[in-house]
Amino acid sequence: MNPVLLITGGSRGIGAATALLAAQRGHAVAVNYRQDAAAAQQTVLAVERSGGQAVAIQADVSSESDVERMFREVAQQLGPLTALVNNAGILEQQTRVEHLDAARLRRIFETNVIGSFLCAREAVRCMSTRRGGQGGAIVNVSSRAAVLGSAGEYVDYAASKGAIDTLTVGLAHEVAGEGIRVNGVRPGLITTEMHASGGEAGRVARLSAGVPLGRGGEPEEVARAILWLLSDEASYTTGAILDVSGGR
Ligand code: NAP
Repeated sequence: MNPVLLITGGSRGIGAATALLAAQRGHAVAVNYRQDAAAAQQTVLAVERSGGQAVAIQADVSSESDVERMFREVAQQLGPLTALVNNAGILEQQTRVEHLDAARLRRIFETNVIGSFLCAREAVRCMSTRRGGQGGAIVNVSSRAAVLGSAGEYVDYAASKGAIDTLTVGLAHEVAGEGIRVNGVRPGLITTEMHASGGEAGRVARLSAGVPLGRGGEPEEVARAILWLLSDEASYTTGAILDVSGGR
């Protein structure tokens, strides 16, 4: 069976690197994005240039109807889903908890937590052997922030990633007997555009001296961990959360 992988937030950064590597390893890839169609198209083109198959699918993962439509489109365009990477995630301007308001907390939790839950739900409905599916694998992209807490920067974002870790463990146990493995990765400081949305484009450079390996990570280094967890090489691994953080 042709492996079919949906990557949420696959248009840039870690998601785009994962799309490229997955295509090189034989997956047909659905590249989800929220608003930047040109970036998603670039990723699709890069996959096609390397000989792979990819489609771009617009959907806001925090919208239940968007998520349901996205999973229908994946099945129509690529065939039955075999894997999901819950990668879409946001953070906002660095600040302290005393300055957070409910609107921001809702935005962060709606994309990072509710979005991941909705996509995981749809993936289970597609892949569970209990529902006639063929099984599959899910990788949730968390963050070392879930453990470190992101004091003075974005405790809201860190807490949303704590919820992702709990989703990973709970869902892994729930569907272990249904042919689905669920794992997580916790990236550390990775060179992507995400840090600019927190107001500090140079954040990785500022903090890299505190990383035991002495540098920030590249999106491809996270992608390789994700692809391992998705692969049969990880056949006895479920409910695991792999730190990809240079030791920090
Ligand atoms: P990024 O470069 O900012 O890319 C974010 C991606 O998510 C984009 O494709 C974006 O699409 C998409 N996205 C955002 N909100 C969405 C929504 N509501 N629905 C659908 N797609 C949405 O981020 P990144 O650094 O690669 O991070 C990817 C994941 O790794 C995130 O979950 C992040 O929390 C996690 N992570 C990153 C780091 C790091 O240092 N970079 C560290 C730890 C964990 P549009 O551009 O179209 O909005």
